[in-house]
Amino acid sequence: MLVTDARVRAAYAEGAGIYRILPAAVALPENQDDVVALVREARESHLPLIPRGAGSGMPGGNVGHGVIVDLSTGFSDLVIDPQRRSARAGASVTWAELNAAAKPYGLRLPPDPSSGAFATSGGMVATNAAGPRTVRYGSVRKWVEALEIVGADGEIRTVKRGARSTEQYALTPDTRHLIAERFPKTRKASSGYALDRFAESGDEIDLLIGSEGTLAIITAVHWRLDPIPPDVAGAALGFADLESMAEAVPYLVSLNPSALELLDETLLQFVSDAPKVACLLLVEFERETAAAVRGVVGDAVRGLKQSVTHVETAVNRAGLEQLWNVRRQASPALSRLPPTQRSLQIVEDGCVPLDALGAYVAGLRAVADRRGIPVAIFGHAGDGHVHVNALPDTTEGGWRDALRGLFDDVTDLLTRLHGVPSGEHGVGRLRAGILERFYGPAVMQLFRDVKRAYDPLSIFNPGVIIPATDWSPVAALKIGAGAAVIPEDIATRLREVERSAAWATPKRELAH
Ligand SMILES: Cc1cc2nc3c(=O)[nH]c(=O)nc-3n(C[C@H](O)[C@H](O)[C@H](O)COP(=O)(O)OP(=O)(O)OC[C@H]3O[C@@H](n4cnc5c(N)ncnc54)[C@H](O)[C@@H]3O)c2cc1C
Repeated sequence: MLVTDARVRAAYAEGAGIYRILPAAVALPENQDDVVALVREARESHLPLIPRGAGSGMPGGNVGHGVIVDLSTGFSDLVIDPQRRSARAGASVTWAELNAAAKPYGLRLPPDPSSGAFATSGGMVATNAAGPRTVRYGSVRKWVEALEIVGADGEIRTVKRGARSTEQYALTPDTRHLIAERFPKTRKASSGYALDRFAESGDEIDLLIGSEGTLAIITAVHWRLDPIPPDVAGAALGFADLESMAEAVPYLVSLNPSALELLDETLLQFVSDAPKVACLLLVEFERETAAAVRGVVGDAVRGLKQSVTHVETAVNRAGLEQLWNVRRQASPALSRLPPTQRSLQIVEDGCVPLDALGAYVAGLRAVADRRGIPVAIFGHAGDGHVHVNALPDTTEGGWRDALRGLFDDVTDLLTRLHGVPSGEHGVGRLRAGILERFYGPAVMQLFRDVKRAYDPLSIFNPGVIIPATDWSPVAALKIGAGAAVIPEDIATRLREVERSAAWATPKRELAH
């Protein structure tokens, strides 16, 4: 069942993000029994398993030295139950496939990752994925009713929300106290095991969601769906400075928007017809009637008339699509940059409490200046969650040290502002070594206890969430002289996948 052909292994050496690591082998299971067999084999051989969906995850949880378990094709069953407003989706089913099937029933999965065209159900749950609409509807966590998994013991289980199972791992009054004290109070987090959520719900499912392939392999997800709201409208609001933008955000959040996105001038400069402002907020509202949705757009604009320097409104879906074009153009523009500005995701997912948003963006601009690395800043303002693409010149010497400096400075900034290193992409390998800075050694020990309880032989994704002893965020990079050697044609195809966000491409095809 294991493919060890050198070209196939090379095709799986990269995901989105910065790493290139050649796996020992690749497996393409077609059903749960195949996964069970792989787990049993791993228990014997001690060759770890790296579960993988589309490979679009950023922090390196989808690459590694062991066996890549490609779950992007064999688990495509999808059944919608319109009466119960739910769906059972195999791990391979993407957000887009799920929503296309739910739409005829007037239903949808509300959290909307921008990577929905390719992100798989297994990958979304494993990273606790989120999107612009998370400001109103939460991350995917809230929408998972049950998971079908294969555990490290090789057993198949269905873990349901509400089952309140503490068989595998339980908290004491002391550990509950520690968690309440030490977990940062951000609106979003995909930063380590969600012990805070587990403490609240008592549901094992909360430990598995966001566990990044380190506790179990997910073979199917039972999703809860929601009716598609009838009316939508919104506005683009420009500001002359960061302070007025940061003051506007809590006001807009109080109006219950379904999205509130930030485009900073560092990003807007790459979009040709973007308005000339220091930052732009895109706000979307969903309501039950056209009158209600127009009313709330009016409230938003009136309430901010003293501070905005640019206003455009849209009263329906078509108009809104046009307003959001500026956001959509940003990613392709960044991927077309010359090699003197290579877009790298190394500090791309920090999240801070809402009242620290302005300080975070200002701090990001300052550390980028100090390290001499241009950045493009954008993201989910309503959740205090900001994406940053670092754009170093990788044709010049010293870029790797500067990049490491940027990573360290942003980590300092985030800890100072009581943030978390990842709002939605996960910890992966990239951030495993800094988790302790955010949570302290005692919570880090709890993370280790969780890992040991579920995966005592460490066969699932070692080095992810719990750091490897030789952890470094800038080791095993896909760029630069030290990059692992793979056939040139495959390296070119992988770069093309990255540039065009073609993560839906079956990776095995890249080896042909
Ligand atoms: C252009 C672009 C835009 C993006 N936008 C967003 C966004 O808006 N919101 C967001 O949240 N993310 C975003 N991402 C990141 C990424 O798409 C998400 O993290 C997504 O959920 C990953 O899904 P995947 O199928 O690609 O998983 P992979 O990248 O293959 O895996 C991600 C992690 O999940 C684990 N995993 C995958 N499948 C399973 C499984 N079946 N069982 C157990 N573990 C598993 C892996 O081990 C790994 O740790 C974006 C990425 C790109 C390239």
